[in-house]
Amino acid sequence: MTIMMPASDQAVLDRRDAIVADLRAIVPGEGVIASAAEMLPYESDALTAYRQPPMVVVLPETTEQVSRVLKYCFDNGIKVVPRGSGTSLSGGALPLADAVLLGLGKFKRIREIDFDNRVVVTEPGVTNLAISQAVAHAGFYYAPDPSSQIACSIGGNIAENSGGVHCLKYGMTTNNVLGCELVLMSGEVLRIGGKAPEQAGYDLMGIITGSEGLLGVVTEVTVRILRKPETARALMVGFSQVEAAGECVARVIGAGIIPGGMEMMDRPAIHAAEAFVNAGYPLDVEALLIIELDGSSIEVDELIKRVEAIALGCGSTTCRISGSEAERDLFWAGRKAAFPAVGRISPDYICMDGTIPRGALPRALARIRELSEKYGLGVANVFHAGDGNLHPLILYDANKPGEMDKAEAFGADILRCCVELGGVLTGEHGVGIEKRELMPHMFSEADLSQQQRLKCAFDAQGLLNPGKVFPTLHRCAELGRVHVHGGRLPFPDLPRF
Ligand SMILES: Cc1cc2nc3c(=O)[nH]c(=O)nc-3n(C[C@H](O)[C@H](O)[C@H](O)COP(=O)(O)OP(=O)(O)OC[C@H]3O[C@@H](n4cnc5c(N)ncnc54)[C@H](O)[C@@H]3O)c2cc1C
Repeated sequence: MTIMMPASDQAVLDRRDAIVADLRAIVPGEGVIASAAEMLPYESDALTAYRQPPMVVVLPETTEQVSRVLKYCFDNGIKVVPRGSGTSLSGGALPLADAVLLGLGKFKRIREIDFDNRVVVTEPGVTNLAISQAVAHAGFYYAPDPSSQIACSIGGNIAENSGGVHCLKYGMTTNNVLGCELVLMSGEVLRIGGKAPEQAGYDLMGIITGSEGLLGVVTEVTVRILRKPETARALMVGFSQVEAAGECVARVIGAGIIPGGMEMMDRPAIHAAEAFVNAGYPLDVEALLIIELDGSSIEVDELIKRVEAIALGCGSTTCRISGSEAERDLFWAGRKAAFPAVGRISPDYICMDGTIPRGALPRALARIRELSEKYGLGVANVFHAGDGNLHPLILYDANKPGEMDKAEAFGADILRCCVELGGVLTGEHGVGIEKRELMPHMFSEADLSQQQRLKCAFDAQGLLNPGKVFPTLHRCAELGRVHVHGGRLPFPDLPRF
């Protein structure tokens, strides 16, 4: 399967040697990688089905270098693809053959820990987990916890508005980032937000969070940190029907209880995870919920009783309550390892990411089952159930001709189904190239044009991460004037992909 990316600019490629030399003058030492062998690790992100070498990799260490690189590219009409740790599952960091791949991996310093204001000011290449580790000694942590937290960068988290199991109660990245330093494609450096909980003016931080590297390059981040709850315990509840588990999720939230995390796995995911980590999961159930409750001990004891009663009322067949930190960790170990675990039962899989209203869970699962039969491909389901965020893992074998195309078509149908059920195309992995062509299924031409006008306000030449998110390329000047009448497209010479 190939995906259309913006056509390479031959004039830029012809000047490659001179461009590399100019970039070396801005980022000296080992900051510019231009040999084919050394660029190999940058060919792809975690959407590994797609890969291509960049024109050159640049690894700046300071905001000033980032600003000078971007200004140079702006002046010379060169595209730029920002990259954090390269764990994106939607192809957001996929390089372009005529673009600079701008890696932020050398921005590794935590600049300030400010317990009085409960914030950390950090460089964007610091991993998500490292922020929590840096404040753990004082009983604090950074709440959004993607399963990739050991590797993914906080800059990438902002670009993707990443989430994790604890985001149900504590919010996604967008709810936990207070400010950033942003370098525009023109090289200008902006400061947005800061340590104060509220900012005046438009919510620019809200726009930058989730912008998938299309608006600017984040070079510093201010995040909120929270005190660790006094205690946390988890229930592991099994159901003989997926619908009953879905009902339990809705009833827990409906009862006014917001668990610290509420995750669901279906039978194939339970079996794969259990074989991988021996978490003690029941193997005779169709669905498993892991529900974590946190707060003071008294509160947690009370909530556990209420959740247990709700689960029983929904027909739960098994229920275990963690009696120690080690046991709670074990309950989570299987869920957190579900992706690699599924990797052991299938040569390849695609991890989808869509969101639905919680109440639509049973209908979504029934539809996924029908599609699984239609395409003749297996599927294991893992969800952030409390958020309605589905992660169906579609199992296939890339060595069998046509199977990858089938898997992608299956995935696209699942996402269409999410939109039809009142949900959205992505919960936390972003649009990237993976869901780009599905954007018109969710947004009208007017919606998409308005989103692109925003892009134009930050990057009028469309040089920053082109080919991602938007299914059709508009030049900023033409936006709003493209009207297709009788099938005749105006500006037919415009490159569209
Ligand atoms: C095994 C596995 C589990 C995962 N689990 C989760 C999960 O639970 N929840 C979740 O939300 N995601 C998850 N992900 C997806 C991924 O880890 C996140 O999207 C993460 O935020 C990407 O961060 P990164 O540093 O790797 O960014 P990259 O992959 O390098 O880049 C992602 C996007 O961010 C842009 N970008 C990166 N850095 C910057 C910057 N400094 N300024 C501007 N733009 C930038 C890039 O251009 C690209 O568009 C998982 C991935 C894997 C492989």
